Amino acid sequence: MDWEDSAEQAEFRTRVRTFIDERLPERYRRAAEEDGDNAVFSWQADRKSDDPEKVAAAKEWAGALGETGWVAPQWPKEYGGAGLSPMEQFIFNQEMSKAQAPNVGGSGVSMLGPMLIVHGTDEQKQYHLPKILSGEVSWAQGYSEPGSGSDLASLQTRALRDGDDYVINGQKIWTSGAHNADWLFALVRTDPDAPKHRGISFVLMPKDTPGITVQPLINMAWEHGFNETFFEDVRVPVTNRVGDENRGWYVGMTLLDFERSNISGAVGQRRSISELIEYSQSDEGREKSRLDEFDNLRHDLADRYIETEVMYNFSFRIISMQHRGLIPNYEASTSKLFNSELSQRLALTGTRVFGLHSNIWDDKSDRAPMKARFTRSYVGAVASTIAAGTSEIQRNIIATRGLGLPRG
Ligand SMILES: Cc1cc2nc3c(=O)[nH]c(=O)nc-3n(C[C@H](O)[C@H](O)[C@H](O)COP(=O)(O)OP(=O)(O)OC[C@H]3O[C@@H](n4cnc5c(N)ncnc54)[C@H](O)[C@@H]3O)c2cc1C
Repeated sequence: MDWEDSAEQAEFRTRVRTFIDERLPERYRRAAEEDGDNAVFSWQADRKSDDPEKVAAAKEWAGALGETGWVAPQWPKEYGGAGLSPMEQFIFNQEMSKAQAPNVGGSGVSMLGPMLIVHGTDEQKQYHLPKILSGEVSWAQGYSEPGSGSDLASLQTRALRDGDDYVINGQKIWTSGAHNADWLFALVRTDPDAPKHRGISFVLMPKDTPGITVQPLINMAWEHGFNETFFEDVRVPVTNRVGDENRGWYVGMTLLDFERSNISGAVGQRRSISELIEYSQSDEGREKSRLDEFDNLRHDLADRYIETEVMYNFSFRIISMQHRGLIPNYEASTSKLFNSELSQRLALTGTRVFGLHSNIWDDKSDRAPMKARFTRSYVGAVASTIAAGTSEIQRNIIATRGLGLPRG
């Protein structure tokens, strides 16, 4: 097995690296150096920030990536993407992640755009795709509801046809980034009498449509990442529906996020474990860590190191399938499951290495090892085995589609 880049791939990697070196705005460069994994570079939040430096950085970076089509590396060139091959996307994402450079476009690029390319009308494509690529419009995903997550097809938010409009009433929850978004895409029930998968439609709406209220949900790391979104007699033109009425489930489930290798996660875990080992060997790290005292902590660290390499190879497996024209199925679940559980184990190991020092939450405190990175990721990583499909759901997929076991 040859793990090295081919000459062509090496040339592409250099091109991406040089581009990031030359064009990544100072704000993101500084944040990556100063704050490491604690840096919250959310491009969506920066766009809406009160701080002019953040707004300028978000615009500058969207503009720079836009020049080469790298806002949407996976989209076809005819729609303004870069049309990169799976291997080039892998290299691109590796380099972006190594430099901790933020992606631009959020779920507009990763979910909505690819769906519109397949299912949208010409008008919908012409109107929405350029605004996603220029960074002018940011999107949020309204799928989950208080009673519908894993069993999403049971969703109840109701859309009643009234002339040329739908009138929508109901509630979505966990809408990530809705507070910074300009538009929402949502699954709504248009036929309550049909079997549950067949009565759902996929609709687009500006967030400032009368009747939409976005309420913050603060997570246990005291961060505002997701929201509850309420719909009260919200009028949405029927022309904002994507795909046929009552066929929205199939539109919403179109899995066109080509970046399924989890490479950003794998690069991040590798960086975390390497920096943990390096820091533990420094004078400050020796003083704050308990590695000299406990064998089992050293063993834990070795285990995590091995697991980060395993994760890296899960990513390679997916990319090698895509490279051969195969569509990863349960393999993507394996990678998602392993990566999210690894992020929790790694965070736990990091906190155990530093013992009582890990009680310090303040990342500015001199007494906090590695700017409290592992304390914070220990709390933050809890959500990783829930978001984008829980670990139990991934295991069900691996069991049935991967191992051919009967459904429970
Ligand atoms: C950080 C974060 C961001 C998110 N962002 C968004 C977003 O932007 N938009 C959006 O629409 N949603 C979002 N979600 C919601 C996410 O998709 C759901 O939380 C997830 O699908 C689980 O659904 P649930 O929370 O309703 O849990 P439930 O489905 O109620 O599950 C509860 C428990 O039961 C288990 N379970 C359920 N069904 C089965 C089964 N068949 N077999 C075995 N065990 C089962 C689950 O694994 C879990 O442990 C986000 C969630 C998180 C944590």
